[in-house]
Amino acid sequence: MIHLPIVDDCHGCGVCCLQMGFPTFMLPAKPLTEVEIDADPELRQRAKDPDIRRHLLDGHPGESFWHDLPQHLRLELEEFWEVHDGKTDSLNGPCIWLDLVTRQCKHHEYRPHVCRDFDVGSIECQEWREHYRDRIKP
Ligand code: SF4
Ligand code: SF4
Repeated sequence: MIHLPIVDDCHGCGVCCLQMGFPTFMLPAKPLTEVEIDADPELRQRAKDPDIRRHLLDGHPGESFWHDLPQHLRLELEEFWEVHDGKTDSLNGPCIWLDLVTRQCKHHEYRPHVCRDFDVGSIECQEWREHYRDRIKP
């Protein structure tokens, strides 16, 4: 198979946003106690990973981009999560912020940390493009 060229911009691509479901901000989380973790079957399962357990015990103030998000976008996302009743882990379709026509992020300046860390032209970018090559716009 002929490999796709390595690109230096996202024009017409957007494939790394096609399976995200929604912008994945690191949200504020209050510190939990050992008792609270062990009382919840799902948390108990997740906390078998020592790093996740530490994270749950420490809590998190939430990423800065979440705190900087305009009120109307924050409300829109909170409504989205409410409608999906916390079942967002199973959402793997296009990110709700992805414009499917232009293949660009509708709120690029407000995108979360995880999206900013994903470098165009990186190995991961190339892997996504190869995997979803048939979904890249000509
Ligand atoms: S896969 Fe690469 S080129 Fe395509 S949108 Fe993502 S970062 Fe941009
Ligand atoms: S927030 Fe924007 S950049 Fe991040 S996955 Fe969604 S559409 Fe892509």
